[in-house]
Amino acid sequence: MDYAIAIHGGAGVIPRDIDPEIRQGYEDSLKQALELGRSMLEEGRASLDVVETVIRTLEDDPRFNAGKGAVYTWEGRHELDASIMDGRDLSCGAVTGVKTVRHPITLARKVMEETRHVFLSHDGAETFARQMDLERVENSFFDTERRRKQWQEMRDRAEQEMGTVGVAVLDKNGDLAAGTSTGGMTGKRWGRIGDSPVVGAGTYADNRSVAVSCTGTGEEFIRNVIAYQVSALMTFKGLSLQEAAEEVIHKTLKKGDGGLIAVSHRGEIAMVFNSDGMFRGAADSSGRFEVAIWD
Ligand code: ASP
Repeated sequence: MDYAIAIHGGAGVIPRDIDPEIRQGYEDSLKQALELGRSMLEEGRASLDVVETVIRTLEDDPRFNAGKGAVYTWEGRHELDASIMDGRDLSCGAVTGVKTVRHPITLARKVMEETRHVFLSHDGAETFARQMDLERVENSFFDTERRRKQWQEMRDRAEQEMGTVGVAVLDKNGDLAAGTSTGGMTGKRWGRIGDSPVVGAGTYADNRSVAVSCTGTGEEFIRNVIAYQVSALMTFKGLSLQEAAEEVIHKTLKKGDGGLIAVSHRGEIAMVFNSDGMFRGAADSSGRFEVAIWD
């Protein structure tokens, strides 16, 4: 395969009888993001640029729980997390608890490229964003009516909402990259951090094996170091990408925990989940181009 891309827009309970218009909206959003990534790869653009650009688009899309449209914390605000990883040399960058940065994925990339650290949090991450001159917005910029309702309902009965975004890419040069961006879980408290900004748990990329982005109940993905586990199963146990992805999602994790998308160094794509559904899409240089929500 010359190039391949897989994207997700979160996994979770997605009722099969959702309004056809809402379903169409999700499918259109996924198709647009996928086509953007596919055309960049066709032009020969680098995997990291594709990951960042496609995630920025999804962060701007209010349908997804990343950037605009992020879920609410317990206190009714938004705290955003993101990470990005370069499969060429394992360089990576991540941010957590960001409140005013419009595109957290870009801040994560800046951490990777402009500092000697890999993970910045809360006020420090904001200060760094200011220094990097990134676009800043009021926290209320990320508000949406739908997520506000979920938050209000959540305060009555504990419920978690998913909808994170992620991208995994193999470019024409043979380089892998992955990234993930999220608002986390509805009603999160006390500076809670999920898997999405944690390299090895929610995101991983190594040119020798695979690029992975996960979505679901972050605590389970951290405990089981899921994204890295896919790479380790391929590297140390010789499993195929599909076998490794199925092993972690169906054997390591429990039903309902979530899913992942992944692209191998050969351009194979896996999109596996154990929840009711996962918003996802896949495209490659053979002409494959598809988006799906359920099985
Ligand atoms: N994994 C994310 C978190 O735990 C949420 C999600 O993927 O929906 O923060």
